[in-house]
Amino acid sequence: MSDYDLFVIGAGSGGVRAARRAAMAGARVAIAEEYRIGGTCVIRGCVPKKLMVYASEYTDQIEHARGFGWTIGDVSFDFPTFMRRLHDEVDRLSGIYLRNLSNTGVQAYEERAEIVGPGKVKLTQSGKEITADKILIATGGTPWRPSDLPGVEHTITSNEVFHLKELPKRIVIAGGGYIAVEFAGVFAGLGVETTLVYRGDTVLRGFDADVRTHVHEGLIQKGVHVVTQSVFEKIEKNEASGELSVDLTNGSTLKADVIMMAVGRRPAIEGLGLEAVGIETSKNGAIIVDEYSRTNVENMWAIGDVTDRVNLTPVAIREGQAFAETVFQDQPVTMDYDNIPSAVFSQPPVGTVGLSEEDARHQFGGIDIYKAEFRPMKNALSGEESRVLMKLVVRQSDEVVVGCHIVGPDSPEIIQAVGIAVKMGATKPDFDRTCALHPSMAEELVTMREKFVAP
Ligand code: NDP
Repeated sequence: MSDYDLFVIGAGSGGVRAARRAAMAGARVAIAEEYRIGGTCVIRGCVPKKLMVYASEYTDQIEHARGFGWTIGDVSFDFPTFMRRLHDEVDRLSGIYLRNLSNTGVQAYEERAEIVGPGKVKLTQSGKEITADKILIATGGTPWRPSDLPGVEHTITSNEVFHLKELPKRIVIAGGGYIAVEFAGVFAGLGVETTLVYRGDTVLRGFDADVRTHVHEGLIQKGVHVVTQSVFEKIEKNEASGELSVDLTNGSTLKADVIMMAVGRRPAIEGLGLEAVGIETSKNGAIIVDEYSRTNVENMWAIGDVTDRVNLTPVAIREGQAFAETVFQDQPVTMDYDNIPSAVFSQPPVGTVGLSEEDARHQFGGIDIYKAEFRPMKNALSGEESRVLMKLVVRQSDEVVVGCHIVGPDSPEIIQAVGIAVKMGATKPDFDRTCALHPSMAEELVTMREKFVAP
């Protein structure tokens, strides 16, 4: 008999959910984690990132308070104190994950596991070999850096950013995706001279065009120096002063204390032993799976970012849950990838669900757009300049709302609720007959009556 019914490689959000569900269904389960229990989201992703976003927002909030009659005395921010508290919270959450595993009877190995044969893994630190009837790969992704960029070793990624000892005076960030945009907001908010270098013309490719423009302008408004149509050519470090300089393809040179690469992530498969059992991967290294997360090899599954489907924590969790229910509870379930709400914690943040205007036009042809851009009430007194964007994308044939996009304060919170309506197939008339909640920002979603006509 095998040592376990299920061995899970990777104790991130997806792996932990799958392991616990399988154990709750009566399976003998083990899980291995090479870094820290909790994975990217808890340890060096969503959670600490959002804490950094919160920290950085106080700068504006303190300033805004003056507009409401507050007199603000001397204020200061102590980065090491904040980081200590951030890591205390991460430790606390990691501890909860570990306890939850053990409470459901999952054996956790806090070391790296590699596949050495069918139904067999090896723990690399202890050298222990373990057999299991089924193996689930949930190793996630890792930040990618172009290895051919001269001086790339002087850069950090979203892994190291949570371990900065002090706040840099100047940072240069490469990329125009989620991570680049979120951290540009964080550092600018904390008073760091921040430059974002993006190869395209407007950040957040793939998002609705209005969202992209709004976020792009928001970055500039927050004081981020945005350089477009440009990439890094060479990075050099002055060993004496520690100062970094980066040459860009547009011919300019930027000086910085920290340079961060946020140019995408790749599935974490290196050295995992996929070739030992013949697991197929795509060109970018993603493990190829079917709708039940089955790989091409019998008794081996993969979920989460390592499969590069929709790389979001709640998706990995649902894939893990669906795997466990299908395999250990005999209830075949597949993940539904339609209308997944998501957020970008830029400043102001983005909340989005469904299709962009461009994708909807491409898919359905006839589309109506309802759009509002306005200054939220709070800003009238706070002095904050940013405006809110609310946009509904409606399919003409049946008036179903196929997309909703918001850029503005609390938009991630709002979109979670709107996501239910969109998922249920709510129509524009359904939105219209919902009574407004006044005064709120979100009431605009149910009061937009005029179709937007491009000027
Ligand atoms: P993204 O894929 O979102 O963005 C990568 C960025 O890097 C793009 O702007 C891309 O440009 C640019 N880029 C890619 N290759 C190069 C290159 N060779 N030279 C210069 N620029 C390049 O990746 P992130 O690293 O920001 O995030 C990874 C994933 O993590 C996200 O896709 C998301 O799934 C997840 N995530 C989700 C968050 C959330 O839900 N809030 C937060 C953080 C991450 P171009 O646009 O031209 O392709």
